[in-house]
Amino acid sequence: MGIPADALDPHVQAAAAACWAVLLQTPAAVVTDIDGTISAIASTPAEAMVDPGARAALELLTRRLATVAVVSGRAPGDGAAMVGLPELTYVGNHGLERIVRGEPWTHPTAAAARPAIAAALAEIEAAARATVDAPWLIVENKGVTGTVHYRLAPDPLQAVALLEPLAREAAERHGLRLTLGRMIFEIRPPLAVNKGTAIRDLAKDLGLRGIVFFGDDVTDVDAFRALREMRAAGAAATLRVGVLGPDTAPAVLAEIDLSVTGVAACAATLLALAARLADDAERA
Ligand SMILES: [Mg+2]
Repeated sequence: MGIPADALDPHVQAAAAACWAVLLQTPAAVVTDIDGTISAIASTPAEAMVDPGARAALELLTRRLATVAVVSGRAPGDGAAMVGLPELTYVGNHGLERIVRGEPWTHPTAAAARPAIAAALAEIEAAARATVDAPWLIVENKGVTGTVHYRLAPDPLQAVALLEPLAREAAERHGLRLTLGRMIFEIRPPLAVNKGTAIRDLAKDLGLRGIVFFGDDVTDVDAFRALREMRAAGAAATLRVGVLGPDTAPAVLAEIDLSVTGVAACAATLLALAARLADDAERA
């Protein structure tokens, strides 16, 4: 594989150097979200594809680092299938489920919430379709969470006005939580689990001393905040990289240390970082 032009971009080089410095604190990990970071946001979740450069970089990084992990809102099996690298750790459904070297784990409270999630999603979908003709509506049951997507709606504000009260009522009726994301509503079990607790658990379980995290969305803000707190407490060196897009939320911009713009630049940063760590290993 040739070196992509982005990898020579001085901004990308600077981002990779900043990541590299944090990863000198070992054991170290690179942790990334999937959608909007290593995979371009697609019209539907099934159409999204991991950037081949990002995949190659993550594979190279597994040879240099204690851990390479993906922390995503997707189900962990879905994330693992998309990324296609069995040696990674997959934390899915915002921390409710994990696959570590092929071994699946589900939070017991989350597992018990599966029927409630399915019922709430079915009610939201039925009520929405009874009100309007909504070919744009995608309801995704991810097992221990569920997502209502309105990215394809011709009028997103109208879609929110329709869906938010339905989702709120269904979540309440079934004792579930409702969270918001990029053109989505998410139904989750009543657990204080999010990407922030997921990254703290990962750091604790693996004794991580250096952590770089790539995120793009409001659900990543919990992870960004946890990493800032861990750094302030002296628990680990951390770096929070925001992958910017056309609709980056202000909450994301407020909790990052540096940014790269777009999935291609994120992939280039990961590749430049992997090259730097490979150079270190050769020199050692
Ligand atoms: Mg994302």
